[in-house]
Amino acid sequence: MTIRKHIIELLAEGRWTARDLSQAVHVSEKEVIAHLEHVSKSMKHAFGIEPPRCLACGFSFKNRLHIRSPGRCPRCKSEHIQDPRFYRKNAHGER
Ligand SMILES: [Zn+2]
Repeated sequence: MTIRKHIIELLAEGRWTARDLSQAVHVSEKEVIAHLEHVSKSMKHAFGIEPPRCLACGFSFKNRLHIRSPGRCPRCKSEHIQDPRFYRKNAHGER
């Protein structure tokens, strides 16, 4: 099974950060992000991103649905950011 296929299967099973996925498929986080960029294009609307969130003030990056973590909160400047989590949406859309 290819790494990309493995990632797609994992996305159907739960919600994963890039770090979780890198541990599960044994490649670097950087590599996982590159795979996710391709996977998001091939899965299109089935690719779900749970927005990153600031752990210091609770700010939710709802309008920043990118694969890479923002790194820093625009509101309080904290760098304690909960990374975005990725998942596969079911046939009925959001879950
Ligand atoms: Zn904040």
